[in-house]
Amino acid sequence: MTQHVLRSEGTTPLLREGDLPPFRHFIDGRFLEAPAEQYTEVVDPCTEAVIARVPEGTADDVDRAVAAADAARERWGRVVPRERAAVLLRIADRLAANADALVRLEAANAGKPLTVARDDVESSIDTFRFMAGALRATTSMAAGEYAEHHLSVILREPLGVVGVVTPWNYPLLMAVWKLAPILAAGNTVVLKPSEQTPLTTLKFAELVSDLLPPGVLNVVTGRGPVVGARLAEHADVAMIALTGSVGSGRAVARAAAESLKRVHLELGGKAPVVVFEDADLKAAAAALRNAGFWNSGQECGAACRVLVHASVADRFVAEIVREVEEITVGDPRAGEEVEMGSLVSKAHYERVLDHLHRAEQKGIRAATGGTALEGPGYFVAPTVLVDVPEGADIAREEVFGPVVTVETFTDEDEAIRRANDVSFGLAASVWTENARRTHTVAARLDFGTVWVNSHLVLANEVPWGGFKGSGYGRDLSLYALDDYSRTKHVMHNYER
Ligand code: NAD
Repeated sequence: MTQHVLRSEGTTPLLREGDLPPFRHFIDGRFLEAPAEQYTEVVDPCTEAVIARVPEGTADDVDRAVAAADAARERWGRVVPRERAAVLLRIADRLAANADALVRLEAANAGKPLTVARDDVESSIDTFRFMAGALRATTSMAAGEYAEHHLSVILREPLGVVGVVTPWNYPLLMAVWKLAPILAAGNTVVLKPSEQTPLTTLKFAELVSDLLPPGVLNVVTGRGPVVGARLAEHADVAMIALTGSVGSGRAVARAAAESLKRVHLELGGKAPVVVFEDADLKAAAAALRNAGFWNSGQECGAACRVLVHASVADRFVAEIVREVEEITVGDPRAGEEVEMGSLVSKAHYERVLDHLHRAEQKGIRAATGGTALEGPGYFVAPTVLVDVPEGADIAREEVFGPVVTVETFTDEDEAIRRANDVSFGLAASVWTENARRTHTVAARLDFGTVWVNSHLVLANEVPWGGFKGSGYGRDLSLYALDDYSRTKHVMHNYER
């Protein structure tokens, strides 16, 4: 087994003067001056150094932000599509002009390689550009006479104030996946970033503060059970959208029930990769190198659970191990060739190691990796686990780290049954050269996205979201625009 060595010798500085945003809540178009009672330390997970101290918001802070968003709601909702689109395009241009700083901030705060952080920023820009176009081309049923002498017209309206709670794995991108369609649909917003990775969200607010009317975008930093919970229960918030874990999704849905607000949840995943005996094994292994270990596997659609036909399992494992042992792991400062960075925090690093430890105790073998890498920083070796029995915890629970498990199957029905036998339903892939299977297996897989001979390829035009324990609601595409709008039927009696 090849032992991964950490690349940490680089000298590219990540944080430069002027990069860091103000560490304060952004409410009603400005960063608040008042000091907070408590602060959260924000850590660079590759060096373990504290890089910022960010205020822990209170329920009062949320209430002020919601009041500002509520006051801005009517005017922003009435801005005609052409002008709203122009604002979104200006936001995209502003992000593009500051892409380099955003990439370095994200890399420093989340331990991401520069290539991953750059992809996040480029995708964020494209999300705003897509939504700017999409909001001008919405459709609905035809206006017409569906009851005698009555003309029916369908109006599409904003919901009002939308609360957003985001996770730490793609801090800027997950914020933008919500903000772009929410603003495009004419809503105002109060967003709480993850307490661990608030820097690019605050930077975003700083960068666009002169582009949006005051109150349209508000950011309150702080803890989920305080700031997120208040947003979820607030009577003046029309909808709460959360990307995060199943537990947080449940908490938000419960809190939202009291005011009967809409809920939009993008939760965890445990994506199966079903590899049939006729698949192009080299292509599948190369795809796994990317899709299983992108963002250190801290990816809800990560290709983390291989189900391979027993007849080709040995060959396939050899291909994956060869690919995975070539992955360059390191600190983003070590340069552009780093493919995989650290995990996001000490707590998460310990959680992933605990998963590996428990798997090892059950006799599950690491074909490569399986351990932490010598620090500083929260690095875990890219890992492939084999001899994984049906139903093993490591193959059913979300590890959210650089860990791929391999199980074997002997027939198609068994493969589908086992692929579907998890509580999540976000994403899956099927690998085969058989034309019938490319459709029938994809149709029977119970996941919101199914790739055929591919994995983890996303585009702004197509929806992203889950079934079952992965939540409901769709990010990206026209479906997101629909989710953040409401339809009203206006019926005119034209005989009177
Ligand atoms: P997390 O649930 O711990 O935190 C997500 C956000 O929820 C944070 O901002 C947190 O402060 C907040 N939160 C926590 N408790 C809350 C409460 N009671 N009320 C309101 N808000 C609360 O998740 P995480 O660890 O930051 O992110 C990893 C998780 O996110 C994984 O499970 C992953 O699969 C999921 N995820 C899903 C997608 C997707 O598109 N489906 C994308 C990225 C991440």
